[in-house]
Amino acid sequence: MTTRLRIALQKSGKLSDGSIELLNKCNFNLNPAKNHYLIKSNELATDFLMIRDDDIPGFIDSGASDVGIVGENLFIEYQLAGLNKNVEIIAPLKFAKCRLSIAINQNSNIKNLSDLNGVTIATSYPATLANFFKLNNIQANILVMHGSVELAPKIGIADAICDLVSTGTTLKENNLIEMEVLLESQAVLIGHKNLKPELKSRVDELVFRFQSVIKAKNSKYIMLHIDKQNVPLLRDILPGAEAPTVLELHGHPDKVALHVVCEEHVFWDTISKLKNIGATSILVVSIDKMME
Ligand code: ATP
Ligand code: MG
Repeated sequence: MTTRLRIALQKSGKLSDGSIELLNKCNFNLNPAKNHYLIKSNELATDFLMIRDDDIPGFIDSGASDVGIVGENLFIEYQLAGLNKNVEIIAPLKFAKCRLSIAINQNSNIKNLSDLNGVTIATSYPATLANFFKLNNIQANILVMHGSVELAPKIGIADAICDLVSTGTTLKENNLIEMEVLLESQAVLIGHKNLKPELKSRVDELVFRFQSVIKAKNSKYIMLHIDKQNVPLLRDILPGAEAPTVLELHGHPDKVALHVVCEEHVFWDTISKLKNIGATSILVVSIDKMME
């Protein structure tokens, strides 16, 4: 009988939708109901364990799961807390991007890192914060909280917080400002360091699919019409256009149609430059999967 590949996912939270979306683009067809803790899929003979994100590294370490999706911040905390025995990062997944930062009250007397000496900082990431203190020679107190960390200064139990930030809206709502970024994070695929060969080959296939989807998500297929003589100018404007597909345009001997794959952010930055060199009929198309 085939050994099942066991993948641990966050049951409900900021990683859940992104994880399911990514997996479904890789043919898994998951539609988890609230009370589903185990989802069986025929795709790559996989069982999905739906659990709290905090439990995922430990599940992998003990062999209860083979791989899982967590925030890099959580893996780093697990590592710095001295808990990691067998878990490693396999691949970055480019979603759930956020940063772990120290934030202070808008009217705080704390102005720079040395002012943190002697203060109390509330956080759910004590090992990462302790490591930061050690690296910066700061002596401060850590108050461990597992939720609503942003309320700690308001209710007077801490002078500052160390928490995850993405847009900064939660900080603003609580009159807090970011003063120091400890680390940048994104969702990562983590896994056991010593997987059986039959599982390892399925994890490799999973990573290949993930990378094909992630690459496609961040790229666009661009089609445009341009004067033949201006084709060389595109190389400087659109990185990745070194070898574009160039097609003749019927009835327009001086023009060509040009097809090229380009990173999405690059495209928006350069659209006016394209217009300046006379590009017309610009079509931007989403890509489903991209394989090297
Ligand atoms: P659980 O109940 O599973 O323990 P949790 O409350 O600990 O959930 P979430 O708040 O859902 O965790 O965050 C999970 C992960 O998502 C974080 O470890 C981080 O990597 C990422 N994350 C957290 N906040 C944000 C955010 N605002 N934007 C993007 N990613 C975030
Ligand atoms: Mg958690």
